Amino acid sequence: MPSSTPQIGFVSLGCPKALVDSERILTQLKAEGYGIVPRYDKANAVIVNTCGFIDAAVQESLDAIGEALHENGKVIVTGCLGKREALIREAYPDVLAVTGPQDYASVMNAVHAVLPKPHDPFVDLVPDTGVKLTPRHYAYLKISEGCNHHCTFCIIPTLRGKLVSRPIDQVLVEAEKLVRAGVKELLVISQDTSAYGVDTKYAERTWRGKTYQTRMLDLCRGLGELGAWVRLHYVYPYPHVDEVIPLMAEGRILPYLDVPFQHASPRILKLMKRPAHAEKTLERIRAWRKVCPDLTIRSTFIVGFPGETDAEFEELLDFLREATLDRVGAFAYSPVGGARANELPGTIPEELKEDRLERFMQVQAQISAAKLQCKIGRTLRVLVDAVDVGGATARSAADAPEIDGVVRIADGASLKPGQFADVRVTAAGEHDLAAVLEHQV
Ligand code: SF4
Repeated sequence: MPSSTPQIGFVSLGCPKALVDSERILTQLKAEGYGIVPRYDKANAVIVNTCGFIDAAVQESLDAIGEALHENGKVIVTGCLGKREALIREAYPDVLAVTGPQDYASVMNAVHAVLPKPHDPFVDLVPDTGVKLTPRHYAYLKISEGCNHHCTFCIIPTLRGKLVSRPIDQVLVEAEKLVRAGVKELLVISQDTSAYGVDTKYAERTWRGKTYQTRMLDLCRGLGELGAWVRLHYVYPYPHVDEVIPLMAEGRILPYLDVPFQHASPRILKLMKRPAHAEKTLERIRAWRKVCPDLTIRSTFIVGFPGETDAEFEELLDFLREATLDRVGAFAYSPVGGARANELPGTIPEELKEDRLERFMQVQAQISAAKLQCKIGRTLRVLVDAVDVGGATARSAADAPEIDGVVRIADGASLKPGQFADVRVTAAGEHDLAAVLEHQV
């Protein structure tokens, strides 16, 4: 039976941006004295934070809502799929409320309507960093919401609206609190980190007595003051990105860029309406590496986009060979309900898409493996994620959590999660490294 404290069950689906929304809602719930329970039968109501990015995610979200309704009966839906209320209501007319992404106030209103706010003098004991869903030593830092682009395969701008950047002082204060609370790595996320602040006209704010503009370069400068690892995700190769590379070379922020290139053929990039599609990407990558030879570039690609010819696919493979990116994820194009790319002619047959995906991954696997081989014998600073009897699992500057590889330290059982260490690389696989401990930091 649920306890006298109103208990909320929470299901969090989707990308890191949705995860940050979940953290904010959970923080608010805890701050108001609600309990959070991991079981439907102990909860007085359940919040489902949904994703609506691709059709598979929509289905997963609908299934999660269905399961919560069946198991608990009182369900509040939020997140990206919340923008498609009619679809949810049609499938599940009994949900209590449907709200969109980032609409924390509406979620809380819906919670208050079904479970009045408890009175508890101790609720203020919630840490001011909020409730994190990530391990204590790393945290996602969301700098903006929404997107001003119109990539034809994506419906995020429809779901999340235009770019709205958080003022830079707010972001830096949040980052400062996180670091004070023990966070060792900050992962900067948004839909388009390079566009940060455009909507605010690069508004000036003050932090620690100095003026900062709301823009990517100043954000990196500020975050670089905190002594934590700072990792940039979702950066597009605009010319001004060049400005942050020296900060990486100086060790102020991690030499790591997550740049979702998606393709290399100018015609396909144009059809995709990708930001910065006209930039001379290879030249830019070479220039970045000249300034910061240790730079790790991570990217994602789509193969089999409508109209992609054999020659354009080969162009993509040539780009891969030339660019020698460190970390790459790839997807066979899959239509997203409501995306404009669905109207493009030249649908690629599934078999051909899969075939291209396999060839793409083979080419990249060799590149990634060769790049990791070059690390054998080197000493790397790593951040420990987990420790067990078999040793420690850690990540280097080249490894973002969840999406990249890891460094296994066989003699690292004495380390602790969240601790830095220097290790010597002894072996390399396709994605991961093996290392021995040199010293704890
Ligand atoms: S940049 Fe393109 S893919 Fe990314 S959120 Fe914006 S529209 Fe979607």
